[in-house]
Amino acid sequence: MKILVIEDEPKAAEYLRQGLSESGYAVEVAHDGTDGLHAAATGDHALVILDVMLPGIDGFAVLSALRTSRQVPVLMLTARGKTDDKVRGFDLGADDYLVKPFQFPELLARVRALLKRGQPAVADPVLRVGDLEIDSVRHRATRQGQRIDLTAKEFALLSLLTRKTGEVLSRTQIASLVWDIHFDSDSNVVEVAMRRLRAKIDDPFADKLIHTVRGVGYVLERRKP
Ligand code: CA
Repeated sequence: MKILVIEDEPKAAEYLRQGLSESGYAVEVAHDGTDGLHAAATGDHALVILDVMLPGIDGFAVLSALRTSRQVPVLMLTARGKTDDKVRGFDLGADDYLVKPFQFPELLARVRALLKRGQPAVADPVLRVGDLEIDSVRHRATRQGQRIDLTAKEFALLSLLTRKTGEVLSRTQIASLVWDIHFDSDSNVVEVAMRRLRAKIDDPFADKLIHTVRGVGYVLERRKP
């Protein structure tokens, strides 16, 4: 199982890397928030250990950005006596919290508990909205049981919209999460992809799932006719 450690202090990062490796985990280390977020959002880690105090974007910003794309378990690390940090971390979707300095066996116990807890979610990789089903493991989408042929980007776009069912996503958010680009406002890459996706997902069916929210972005949801 792969664990991502996001920690800027070299000694602390090495301590975690060594301890976790010796416990049988594959460990990747990122030394700042930007690299860490990129690694976490694009990787297949079973767990992320995230330090709050990081240069550039801090642990909270990493966590909130990460939660728009992946539900990987996150264990946050912070300095002693920062109760506010703990509350804030949980609000943003942290799964557990450990105060520095800690004993390694305690960290290991939490890591094991989180990995165990995370497993049922992996067991059902299928997302469903109405008659739309997306199987993220087999990379397959169906409506009313009919297979829909999608490109890799269309699949990524549909997965994002489905994970965020009912939530309006802006073109900028979509562009950065699906294409990993922060494009200028003239680009119509999202519009073009969305049109193609709708032609496959919605046009053949009476029940439309993808909706444009004028001036804001797009939302995928079931609406009463
Ligand atoms: Ca730090």
